[in-house]
Amino acid sequence: MNKFLSAGPGVFILLAIFALTACGQAPDTYSVTTTKSEYQARFLSIQEEESKLLENSECGKTGGDLLDTIKYAIDKFNTLPLAQDEPSFQVGHPNGADGISVRVCADDQLAAYAYSKTVALHEGLLKTLRAAAEAFARFEHDELDTALDNLAIAAVNRENNLYGLYIVANFPGSPSEISRSEVLFRSAVAFVIYHELGHTIMGHADYAQALGDQSLELSADAFAAETLALTGIDREGIDVVFAILGRISPDELVGHPSSVYRAALLQVE
Ligand SMILES: [Zn+2]
Repeated sequence: MNKFLSAGPGVFILLAIFALTACGQAPDTYSVTTTKSEYQARFLSIQEEESKLLENSECGKTGGDLLDTIKYAIDKFNTLPLAQDEPSFQVGHPNGADGISVRVCADDQLAAYAYSKTVALHEGLLKTLRAAAEAFARFEHDELDTALDNLAIAAVNRENNLYGLYIVANFPGSPSEISRSEVLFRSAVAFVIYHELGHTIMGHADYAQALGDQSLELSADAFAAETLALTGIDREGIDVVFAILGRISPDELVGHPSSVYRAALLQVE
């Protein structure tokens, strides 16, 4: 157990209940496996995926203006004090010298993945979160719902033009809307990164037999929420993540539970 999960049991349970996930672990590892040889095969496939990722030139980059947002979350994470008996997990971008590497893959996948020592964020997810943050900053109530519905359709259909049209039509907004959208986007991205780091740091990729286990997602969510609190990063981006991912087809995001349920728990909190 580490400092990230050191909050009282009540807090942990509350956070843990709002299972979401912006992610999965490595691709193709969701199905339930039953035999030891299948577990071993899956573990090897995760290692292979990670090796391929590290050699993929499309996954060593950031999408330009996404760099600041990603570095912000990483830098905040790296400045967290460690307890005496804790191993150091310095996180790097795009390469971690002696720790975990966070990489952005320049493709339109709506996904983020955690491997043994690597976290991969796909630009499709980041762009979708950005547009959702802009919608939150700009709209309320029914207008917000409509904007998010349209955005989810555009994201699922990989309509990159629609992102552009959406942003051009509605942004830039007023200076206060722009700065609000930046705060929300930064928070949403930090939540996703910390969720994936949670999988990596807690060694979930090594429990190949358990991949797809909902309890691992709950742990990663709790880790992410707790890390946001420790770093002092705004938590409102969690709402952005839930709202847009809840509208995206479950086929896109395996295993995420009801966003309505999660949102209700967030209200309680
Ligand atoms: Zn996850």
